[in-house]
Amino acid sequence: MKKQFIKPCAICGSTRIDIKREIITPFEIGDDKVRVWAFCRNCGQRGLSAVGRLTEKEGEDAAIRLWNNV
Ligand SMILES: [Zn+2]
Repeated sequence: MKKQFIKPCAICGSTRIDIKREIITPFEIGDDKVRVWAFCRNCGQRGLSAVGRLTEKEGEDAAIRLWNNV
């Protein structure tokens, strides 16, 4: 699968950026309501969170967009 471009960390310049996904409200049918954000594995800097009923791909894309716009 093609990965979206992720900018290096604005604080430390690291390219070790990871995506974290946390379930807020699980739904039995459809997608869970989740919070997804990107963070730097080196210094711990966090991007803004995307919140909503997002598939894994949608959540990741949204989190990366928010991270890249900082
Ligand atoms: Zn960093």
